Amino acid sequence: MSFTRQSLGSRLRGNDDLTLMPRSILFITLDSCRYDAFVEARAPNLKALSSLCRARAPSHFTYGSHAAFFMGFTPGDFSLREPYVNPKYGKIFRMEGGGHPGASPPLVTLAGRNIVDGLKKLGYRTLGTGAVNWFNPERPTGRVLSADFEHFAYARGPSLERQIAWIESTLGKSDPAAPAFVFLNVGETHVPYYYEGAPWDRSYNPAQAFGENNDAVEARRRQIACIEWCDRTLEPLLARFADDSVIACADHGDCWGEDGLWEHGVSHDKTLEVPLLLRLAPDAFA
Ligand SMILES: [Zn+2]
Repeated sequence: MSFTRQSLGSRLRGNDDLTLMPRSILFITLDSCRYDAFVEARAPNLKALSSLCRARAPSHFTYGSHAAFFMGFTPGDFSLREPYVNPKYGKIFRMEGGGHPGASPPLVTLAGRNIVDGLKKLGYRTLGTGAVNWFNPERPTGRVLSADFEHFAYARGPSLERQIAWIESTLGKSDPAAPAFVFLNVGETHVPYYYEGAPWDRSYNPAQAFGENNDAVEARRRQIACIEWCDRTLEPLLARFADDSVIACADHGDCWGEDGLWEHGVSHDKTLEVPLLLRLAPDAFA
């Protein structure tokens, strides 16, 4: 498999032919999804994207990881001397001025504040929807990650079906000839691990930081069920992006009692270990 690695910006500057417009990009983050839970889950739609990579997240909490993702520092496996699955070796998105370029050329070089701004400058429609509070634009802290999207919807917790409906509706209202960068942060895999209609009590969090009533077996059972439900729910959206590039990963994992720790927001092997699936369209930036 080979990819065109030249800067899309230089390509477009020299040619106004819209047939050269690149493929759309779908970027899914399953919030707090552990790598080992994802391995156990029946998730045929997501697992069909690529071989599953045991990756390291750039941070152990939502803001830190997404701020890094949006600057081109996606999760990676440091043991692989391959671009994209190891962003230290070669980045999918390289921001001009944004750190060391790597051993291998980036898939695309972007200019701007972050990849959202950079893709927007290249003519992408930029849509994002986030489920957790770090994406709440009503809070100053939540405005940082959401500010550069043309359209952003904060979902106020797990509501994947509504997020997908919003994506479909928003894409339907914009120029279909332009490629889209669609970012989707999924909340069902975050504590307390709940999807709409799940047959358990949402008010009980089995992995509460410093909690006295935690249950690692129940946490695992619930997160795996949530991954499986999300996989089924994501099927039509993944089908819509069948010819496009898709990045699916977690922003961090959770601890389930390892070293006496629960949940995330603390740097630990289990909060940094995440699943990564990466399918780049052969003509992603042709
Ligand atoms: Zn998170």
